[in-house]
Amino acid sequence: MRIAVASGKGGTGKTTVATSLALSLASDSTRPPPLFLDCDVEAPNAHLFLRPTFERRQEVGILIPRVDESKCTHCGKCAEVCQYHAIAVLGKKVLVFAQLCHGCGSCALICPEHAISEVPDVMGVLEFGTTRAGIVFARGVMNVGEPMAVPVIRQLKKWIAPQPNQIVIMDAPPGTTCPVVESVRSADFLLLVTEPTPFGLHDLKLAAQIARELNLPAGVVINRDGIGDAGVEEFCAAERLPILMRIPFDRAIAEGIAQGQTLVDMRPECLSSFQSLFNQVRILVEAPA
Ligand code: SF4
Ligand code: SF4
Repeated sequence: MRIAVASGKGGTGKTTVATSLALSLASDSTRPPPLFLDCDVEAPNAHLFLRPTFERRQEVGILIPRVDESKCTHCGKCAEVCQYHAIAVLGKKVLVFAQLCHGCGSCALICPEHAISEVPDVMGVLEFGTTRAGIVFARGVMNVGEPMAVPVIRQLKKWIAPQPNQIVIMDAPPGTTCPVVESVRSADFLLLVTEPTPFGLHDLKLAAQIARELNLPAGVVINRDGIGDAGVEEFCAAERLPILMRIPFDRAIAEGIAQGQTLVDMRPECLSSFQSLFNQVRILVEAPA
């Protein structure tokens, strides 16, 4: 089972929930420890809480075109086929804009002179390790200034195959843009973390729309419960989004998280709350549609 943890914006406690859920699953000896994928490749931070020892590293990227000018007749077909405007023919010159290229290979395929070869463009690295609790941990880290997160996330998700019965937790990037959609696309369940404020409600609405569009079962964790207003609860009731867990607002928790502690490090009694959260998710995933 793949559980994606997402939120419409940063700072809602998404990684707090994802890491403590992983630790609670790792404490259950009846199944293999979970596989944790930090898909927030622009600003990965789950390693600060789970502290894996990295054992393997691999560069990741896409293939971009390289034009052999001696074969090129400047026919312009490559520029016509590229929907991302990443290749242009200007007079007797062919220009490749690597930062716009999605590595689809169409230009190389269509070139009648076979003047285009494909060369690797490294966008970042994938890293793999294990934590002291036995959690299998992998993350992607994009190179600074790299504009496209989606290829890195896609390759991270393919890189490590889960064992049978192993639960996969995917910590999605914040927001509701393409990298989030790519992160949650193959999930069996989308766990939406929010806070009970008008800002939280605004972003929850956007995140819930992703669940609807991808036809994913979803549920909500309310972080910092006790602040704000009833807007999130009313929205969840109207949308039939189950509220699966509430984490009360507590300044000591916020301070501990800022120092790199997980919720279950600080409050071991929360282990059973996260196990109960997982059991609710499992019931919802296994429920007939
Ligand atoms: S399709 Fe090939 S031959 Fe035509 S302009 Fe592009 S690189 Fe040159
Ligand atoms: S590989 Fe695809 S995206 Fe990149 S330049 Fe060629 S056609 Fe455009």
